[in-house]
Amino acid sequence: MEELETDLNEGFLTISTLPDKGRCLFATKHFYPGEVILREKPYVSVPNNKSRCDGCFGTSSLKKCSVCQIVWYCSTSCQKEEWKLHRLECNALSKLDKERRKSVTPSLRLMLRLYIRRRLESERVIPATSMENYKLVEALISHISEIDEKQLVLYAQMANLVNLMLQLPDVNIKEIAENFSKLACNAHTICDNELRPLGTGLFPVISIINHSCLPNSVLVFEGKLAVVRAVQHIPKDSEVLISYIETAGSTLTRQKALKEQYLFACKCVRCIKLGQPDDIKEGAILEGYGCKNTECDGFLLRDSGDKGFICQQCGLIRSKEEIKELASEIKSLSEKVLDSTSSQNNQELITTLAIEKLQRKRCHRFSISLMQTRDKLLKMFMDLQNWHEALSYCRMTIPVYERVYPSFHPLLGLQYYTCGKLEWFLGETENGVKSLTKAVDILKISHGTNTPFMKELLMKLDEARAEASYKQTLT
Ligand SMILES: [Zn+2]
Ligand SMILES: [Zn+2]
Ligand SMILES: [Zn+2]
Ligand SMILES: [Zn+2]
Repeated sequence: MEELETDLNEGFLTISTLPDKGRCLFATKHFYPGEVILREKPYVSVPNNKSRCDGCFGTSSLKKCSVCQIVWYCSTSCQKEEWKLHRLECNALSKLDKERRKSVTPSLRLMLRLYIRRRLESERVIPATSMENYKLVEALISHISEIDEKQLVLYAQMANLVNLMLQLPDVNIKEIAENFSKLACNAHTICDNELRPLGTGLFPVISIINHSCLPNSVLVFEGKLAVVRAVQHIPKDSEVLISYIETAGSTLTRQKALKEQYLFACKCVRCIKLGQPDDIKEGAILEGYGCKNTECDGFLLRDSGDKGFICQQCGLIRSKEEIKELASEIKSLSEKVLDSTSSQNNQELITTLAIEKLQRKRCHRFSISLMQTRDKLLKMFMDLQNWHEALSYCRMTIPVYERVYPSFHPLLGLQYYTCGKLEWFLGETENGVKSLTKAVDILKISHGTNTPFMKELLMKLDEARAEASYKQTLT
């Protein structure tokens, strides 16, 4: 731990302990937007589904490990790199009968790898360093005493299986179960540059960083390497904060998500406003109902006589029954979407369009669920290569993104990127340049400028600019 502190100090960081928060990471100098605060390789990691390379999480030219028949590799170099860990894991997986092998989950594998890594460290096959060291895993919080009975039983069953597979001589089941609980609240989802999930990793140093619903930093990944960048000015001696959850949502929704998965009550700058008039208004806009008068932009609150919901701008009332009816129609359509298989793609599109129509009737125009449905439609139309429709749905989401995310949120940047690509492709070059410029302004802060992903974006912007100025010479 001392070694870690020394290393962190060199990077202008320090670990502190606050009574109500536990460990915290503090900056010992000013960090500015776009600046890298910390990089960390995963201590252990696994891809999220079976057809991904264990080494690089890639999906092309995959071959199964011939021994265990569970793990995939894209190349011999990836296989070689993973061999030290996989040799023992392969052995453990091969002990399972065929049926059981099918039920090997990423979290079970993550645990196997955690114990294998610990063993290899103690045997000095893998060296322990200041940032990569089982002691750092021991220091993570598990919240085990707050977990409900059902979950505990599940963890104990999984722990039993891990113990059987690895035949650990010096470990008790309780400790493995506690480690499952640690993984549940400390492991991070590893995403690609467009924030699509690829797998899970344990990053014990990054786990020291606490959560805020309005964070000053962002966690992104370069391959499996975790990178924390400042998205706001972080003054010297202040705490580095990232977000653990999707921050678009009312205070109640965010707090519920944090309580459920991370078992704490958030007291960040946004959360302390819970119940204040502005917070109630924002919650009603993002997750409540729209005014009966479609021209009115007011938000609705429950009327004291309990007749329904009353518009705070024009006073119109929407009855409980009407809202309930719309809700049940949306629900039954959503269930239909869940039931439909990939062969009924067209049906799924028609149903999703119907849901969007109903949500437009029911929700405020800044509603998050309406935004999510439009995002789904954007993706569906992209898959169908219907670029015009895709662009129109993308554009509808942007004002909501602007409202629900802070100005340097990567999701906002990525939405502008999609919008810009579509506009440019459809010949709206000037609009495309505007959107791509906005994307660059945001993503260069969250993603840096040196990754292949950002280089491609910068190149696209250059090309679009050149085309725009050429077009201007023609007019
Ligand atoms: Zn690979
Ligand atoms: Zn294997
Ligand atoms: Zn919060
Ligand atoms: Zn109104």
